[in-house]
Amino acid sequence: MSSRIADIQSRMIALQTQQTGRNVQAQPAKAASGPGGDFADYLKDAVNAAPTANKSYSLNSKGIPTDLAAYGNGRIPASALEPVGNTRHKLWAPAAQSLNQMIGDAKKDGVHIGITDSYRPYAEQVDLARRKGLYSQGGLAAKPGTSEHGWGMATDLDLNAKALSWMKQNGEKYGFVMNVPRENWHWAYKPKSV
Ligand SMILES: [Zn+2]
Repeated sequence: MSSRIADIQSRMIALQTQQTGRNVQAQPAKAASGPGGDFADYLKDAVNAAPTANKSYSLNSKGIPTDLAAYGNGRIPASALEPVGNTRHKLWAPAAQSLNQMIGDAKKDGVHIGITDSYRPYAEQVDLARRKGLYSQGGLAAKPGTSEHGWGMATDLDLNAKALSWMKQNGEKYGFVMNVPRENWHWAYKPKSV
């Protein structure tokens, strides 16, 4: 029995190693352009070397990132999400980066944007529905398994009047829209194009 477990473990490790290998190969080849390489090559390498530039992603017909859809709403592993700056909040990577950028830009305008909630696992969605009631019944929670928070595609922000007005004016530039009436703290990430 234990040898069988060891066998399975070694096969899992082998699979993980292969996976890593594929990811590495997917990276653009570096240093293809030597000292004589032209500027376009140099630029391409520089762009590809940027932390997120070579991450490609797509959305399905419901606007859900295809790489997350397979996991299911509220069942996204931590490894598939990204922290927003140095906060404990996590979102789908492009949303996390855009939110972080937005918070930084707001700060330059003297506006403080706080985060109260971000990715919400399924169990937390159930708990929230129990405590706050379903939105469809006058409450404030989405039906568990359908929340935009469950995809890491929405954040709840802590906004004073100045920050709310800044968000209404600028949020969309960063892909964030206030899409739930009665919830001016809820901002969903709806990039125009990805
Ligand atoms: Zn929300």
